[in-house]
Amino acid sequence: MVALVTRDSSDAARDSRTAESSDSVTVVIDAGHGGHDRGGIPGQRVAEKDMTLDVSQRLRNVLSASGYRVVMTRDSDVFVPLPTRVAIANSYRNAIFVCIHFNATQRRSAGGIETYFYSRDSLPLASAIHRLVVGGAPSSNRGVRRRGYYVLRKTNIPAVLVECGFLTNPTEAAYAQTASYREKLAEEIAAGVRGRNSVASASFIDQTRVARSERHSSKHSHKKSARKKRSSSKRSGAEEASAQ
Ligand SMILES: [Zn+2]
Repeated sequence: MVALVTRDSSDAARDSRTAESSDSVTVVIDAGHGGHDRGGIPGQRVAEKDMTLDVSQRLRNVLSASGYRVVMTRDSDVFVPLPTRVAIANSYRNAIFVCIHFNATQRRSAGGIETYFYSRDSLPLASAIHRLVVGGAPSSNRGVRRRGYYVLRKTNIPAVLVECGFLTNPTEAAYAQTASYREKLAEEIAAGVRGRNSVASASFIDQTRVARSERHSSKHSHKKSARKKRSSSKRSGAEEASAQ
């Protein structure tokens, strides 16, 4: 679609709210964590598992109203092992997989939205969702990132993981705790699903070789950026441990 090149692709994604033929596409929605797995970091006040389930249920409602077939990997406060989540996703043809998470870190000032993908087939979906969620959020843009999270590596359909803000950031936690903001997140993610084929170009941060690039940067960067890199990879490492 050549016309898209001259336009902001988030406009294109918004236009496609009504344009997509949603017939026969199944969206598998994966609410992060659940049951004994609260998500986040020890001592975190707002439980990630509750926020992810609520946004996922709202997303289901928005997508169902648009005509999508929707499957939830969990629809209550239960623990579902990651291989089970992947098996559910992989049991559908012509499907996409959307994992909902919120971020956490010891550094309270850290904030922003991140969207992860792994297979190249998943990049347009990640880009479309990310632009719309960032556009509707008070949070900063931490970028689309490629990383080998278990649920992204093991799924054989387009799969993304959205980190909808930091629950350890007082401002973002306050937003996340309002129903209207969670509804907004669901609407923007749904719009990204509808507009996933309208993304003209997409850039991302490659984190598939984090350990190697970290050694490189601490050797060559000045102290401040090396420190920043360490704290961000520490956070991501914690999240990856829980996501595997
Ligand atoms: Zn999580």
